[in-house]
Amino acid sequence: MPDGKLYVVIRGIDMAYDAKVLLGLFYDRNKIIIKEGNDLSAPDPGSMLITLEKKEHGGGFTAEAAFYDAVNGQEDLSAIVSGSRKPKYISSMKITGDDMNSPGGTLMGNRKIICGTVLYNVLKEAFKKELPYGSLTGVRPVKMAAVCLEDGMDEVQTADLLQRITGISREKASLLYEVACQEKSYMDSDDSEMNIYIGIPFCASRCLYCSFTSYPIDRLVSLVDPYLDALEKELEFGSQWIKDNNLKINALYIGGGTPTALPEGQFARLLSMVRGYFNQVREFTVEAGRPDTINREKLRIIQESGATRISINPQSMNRETLRLIGRNHTPGDITEKFYMARELGFDNINMDIIAGLPGENLDMFLGTLRQIEELKPDNLTVHTMAIKRASILHQAVSEYVSAPDEVVDQMIEAARESARRMGMKPYYLYRQKNMLANLENTGYATPGKGCRYNVETMAERQSILAFGAGSITKIVIPSENRIERTDNVKEVALYIDRIEEMIVRKKEIFSQVTE
Ligand code: SF4
Repeated sequence: MPDGKLYVVIRGIDMAYDAKVLLGLFYDRNKIIIKEGNDLSAPDPGSMLITLEKKEHGGGFTAEAAFYDAVNGQEDLSAIVSGSRKPKYISSMKITGDDMNSPGGTLMGNRKIICGTVLYNVLKEAFKKELPYGSLTGVRPVKMAAVCLEDGMDEVQTADLLQRITGISREKASLLYEVACQEKSYMDSDDSEMNIYIGIPFCASRCLYCSFTSYPIDRLVSLVDPYLDALEKELEFGSQWIKDNNLKINALYIGGGTPTALPEGQFARLLSMVRGYFNQVREFTVEAGRPDTINREKLRIIQESGATRISINPQSMNRETLRLIGRNHTPGDITEKFYMARELGFDNINMDIIAGLPGENLDMFLGTLRQIEELKPDNLTVHTMAIKRASILHQAVSEYVSAPDEVVDQMIEAARESARRMGMKPYYLYRQKNMLANLENTGYATPGKGCRYNVETMAERQSILAFGAGSITKIVIPSENRIERTDNVKEVALYIDRIEEMIVRKKEIFSQVTE
């Protein structure tokens, strides 16, 4: 396979961005040149060419992609595009008006999905590589299975359709269907209810892979009280708006960062403040993610606040891995704090783990699963390692070695089996950029113990009012099929200084909803 430039000529559809994301999973993004206009002049000799075209016809449309290699520098792309050469690989899909009126028709009628899939089909042939999610590159693939479920399709029909129109593997299509069924069981609240997120941007230290708005607390101790003062102003404004509009709260989530990184006095102030403003909620989660930030007193404070769910996150049960990824705790701390929380009566505890952490092999990961099964948490969230731009890992990626894709895949499958052995089902799932093996993050829960907040974040059915540094408010406007967003600045000092501006930003989008 040549390593020259890859020219991509797209016609009849505006999808340069989406195409480039998919192409980037097969080829060096810096060598991909997308041509959407009429500039089809001669390419560099030895380049490859892909054409992607969508044509409308009689109530339906056809998408076609073709791949040509070793393009001669003398021949204009326009000559090839107009048929001077036979492509090496070709894929086309015709969608009729009847298809679009049948169950799953809204998915079949989505031109970008279908064009993405014919493009994926030629990439798969040209580069001899298959992706578990086929042409799907978005964060929320479960939404497609949810459409099928809404249309009355069963698992087999859904998997057949998703395979046909996205190239997804059978296993992943069935997984999406199972998640869609499970998440529905947590979506029993009214569409008009909303959710609250509160970000506490402090943590015990910074993990290697962390991309959250999170700063080691020992460097910012003097900013904690001013931060809580600023947060209180934002909460006061938000709670008044909720009251004025007679809205109900479905789920409340305090994350970050790690809220339990706050010293006891400030942590107690945070929780009493939050409950003072939002006292009627169906679900209340407090992230207690880092075991090295938990003690009996903080657990009592959480309990007295009425929280219904906490997270105590191992990520790995291997001492050496925990050290390597910058977590100041041992596997023993995890079990100790987990049993402490159980003893105090917490009956909905989540644990997060990551498949593909640097230096971990399959045996080490299986060891983590075995120890977690002994603890029997109520939720298990299995992340696939992702190298995120804002992480320390991204800057030093060459210094760390993760397991090869096929091993990460085995880890994810082993975690699925482990969750099943613990009586859990997958109830929410999302994907991110730069995940190893192009896999997914999945939340598993024992019956009724899944997190409503997580489900609503993925389903984008209800608004999320978010407070604190780096948080993003999303107001869902169902009548217009639209979501309005506003974000808060990330840096703690800036958030404190500009709190009035953060409130004005919220007022502006709230006024659009209530006008
Ligand atoms: S515990 Fe979570 S928030 Fe804290 S540094 Fe690690 S990944 Fe980031």
